[in-house]
Amino acid sequence: MIVGRFAPSPSGYMHLGNASTALLAWASAKSRGGRIVLRVEDLDPARSRAAYTEAILDDLRWLGLDWDIRAEDQSRRGAAYREALDRLKEIVYPCYCSRDELRAASAPHASDGRVIYAGTCRGLTEAQRMARTKPPCLRIAVPDREIAFVDGLQGPYALSLRREWGDFIVRRADGVAAYQLAVVVDDAANGVTEVVRGRDLLSSAPVQIWLYEQLGLTPPAFYHTPMLLAPDGRRLSKRDSDCCLKDMRKRWPPEKVIGLIAWLYGLIDRWEPVSARELAGIFSWDRVRRGDIRLAPGLIEAGLAPAGRHVEDAEE
Ligand code: GLU
Repeated sequence: MIVGRFAPSPSGYMHLGNASTALLAWASAKSRGGRIVLRVEDLDPARSRAAYTEAILDDLRWLGLDWDIRAEDQSRRGAAYREALDRLKEIVYPCYCSRDELRAASAPHASDGRVIYAGTCRGLTEAQRMARTKPPCLRIAVPDREIAFVDGLQGPYALSLRREWGDFIVRRADGVAAYQLAVVVDDAANGVTEVVRGRDLLSSAPVQIWLYEQLGLTPPAFYHTPMLLAPDGRRLSKRDSDCCLKDMRKRWPPEKVIGLIAWLYGLIDRWEPVSARELAGIFSWDRVRRGDIRLAPGLIEAGLAPAGRHVEDAEE
């Protein structure tokens, strides 16, 4: 049985990019008789709002993207994360570094600008730890290994844990579990067999696959979908009100939005109304574009597809 999932973060309203990921996850599972788990990723209490959760669920229902199981919200899963950390305790260590120390001691940055932790606190003795007063975050010591996998859409991908990622945070200093840990623990607990999400998370997949291994769990299949870009090349963000589902709903029926996404991602040849159900009937990963997709100027505002080219593959 295929089990896909929606994993929205309730830190803002849903935009066209979020809706696209949800549609592709849903159609992928439903086209093969699978199920969808909904899990609200409200790990970060400072950024999550119950009102956004309600709005996102309402948008999903409106689009016709239903779910079979609602998993526990991440804010209620602290015990499961603590248990996972306990299982990893041999390779987890407290880190007391301040922001400035991190900057000063960091190794060369990864290709995407991420700072690689230099391992400063990795070798602290128990006495040195006792002497610190600041609450530490917890990091996990990664081995010098390359993790390779085949993404269902993007193809083969590999990354060196130590050189391109470094010892990453698994629990923040305020006690909140980090995304990388929580997502692995929860996808495994929810029985998820395929993860469909934006390509911005492609470089996280090898890290998560390694965590699955450390926890003795089986990783799911991954499909990393192209990002939707605004006409000026920026990634859509939750601040782009023109691509906000809440606003589109006032002007268009759901089939028009589903049709737009299906057309942008290469599943249908023209922008025409289609329901989520109909799309599941014709869905195939072979047809989904791989490169990021730039929205043509005026496309959303016009709500029509005038003649001409309205999608550009940003990278292909
Ligand atoms: N909650 C994340 C987001 O909304 C998705 C994480 C994932 O799919 O692994 O961006």
